Amino acid sequence: MTTSAKAYIAPSATSPLRPGTIERRELGAFDVRIAIKFVGICHSDIHTARGDWAGVSFPVVVGHEISGVVEAVGARVTGYSPGDRVGVGCFVDSCRECPNCRAGEEQHCLAGATSTYNSVGRDGLPTAGGYSTSIVVDENYVLRIPEGISLDVAAPLLCAGITMYSPLRNWGVGRGTRVAIIGMGGLGHMGVKIAAALGAEVTVLSQSLKKQEDALRLGAESYYATSDPVTFDILRGYFDLIINTVSADIDVDGFLSLLALDGTMVLVGLPPKPLSQRAWSLASFRRSLAGSKMGGIRQTQEMLHFCAAHGLGAEVEVIPASKINDAFDRVLASDVRYRFVIDAGTF
Ligand code: NAP
Ligand code: ZN
Ligand code: ZN
Repeated sequence: MTTSAKAYIAPSATSPLRPGTIERRELGAFDVRIAIKFVGICHSDIHTARGDWAGVSFPVVVGHEISGVVEAVGARVTGYSPGDRVGVGCFVDSCRECPNCRAGEEQHCLAGATSTYNSVGRDGLPTAGGYSTSIVVDENYVLRIPEGISLDVAAPLLCAGITMYSPLRNWGVGRGTRVAIIGMGGLGHMGVKIAAALGAEVTVLSQSLKKQEDALRLGAESYYATSDPVTFDILRGYFDLIINTVSADIDVDGFLSLLALDGTMVLVGLPPKPLSQRAWSLASFRRSLAGSKMGGIRQTQEMLHFCAAHGLGAEVEVIPASKINDAFDRVLASDVRYRFVIDAGTF
């Protein structure tokens, strides 16, 4: 039997989200049904709900920074029991057989991972995300939230946290690595916290000086406004790793010039329009330009344990569902400190 869940639904790219009801699939043998407690507002939810990216099937229920409590488990579930504190991130299934799935990089499944929303599940039904009161997910794609992190500040770790943790780990950031984070929003502020906890020397490159005090409090050693051209002179050739979280067009060549010999700039922000850069910016100083997308299940669980061990969670503003459309506008205006999280009790 399916179960009904309350949800906030985007009917089209141009209409505001509105309350409604959706059906969650019957609990399969390997499924976990989760009572959602909190869900973060990721900028990707806004890109999707506003039709910025191609291929959105409306109506859509977005949300992939989900935290909650297990309500029921299928007959063959071994990893979870009712009452467990759990999370769900950006994908809820994958083929489990391709080399990337076998390597624990399910987000890069060769058959295409099933996204938490705007995708089609193995049951042939469209997936619906976490702006809802419950969700049913195969236990292999559910994460355990350690006791040390409360569920409101844990929710954004399921996308923003892993999206920053993964490149920081994969590019070997540790004590003394010079790391710059471009854009201090949901992703960026988690990047600052995690990079600082890894021992890196962290610099924030933000549009303005407005968030300077916060950045230093979260662990950054320095902070520069990208609106000031002097920033690019002072920091030329300085960083080992730059992570760009900005969702808009940026001056890629300008930021590449800030990389040291063999430095890498990793793109995690996903602007709708193509970026461009000169070959010279890469050839000089043997620089690399790379990208990164979320992280696999194993690394996401590792990230949650790392955050619990270091007392890290997101800086959140908890809102009721009725404020979602206002919150979308505020994120677009960079007016968020630093993640909106919806209280699922208000759907
Ligand atoms: P966010 O909270 O809106 O943060 C983005 C930050 O970028 C803003 O706070 C702002 O920081 C800066 N920014 C925004 N507009 C700008 C502009 N026009 N010029 C320069 N800087 C600007 O968004 P988010 O949730 O962190 O997501 C950021 C991007 O990452 C989105 O494109 C999202 O879709 C993408 N994303 C990718 C992945 C992945 O796996 N690769 C995962 C999640 C999200 P300052 O005010 O400090 O400049
Ligand atoms: Zn996201
Ligand atoms: Zn696969």
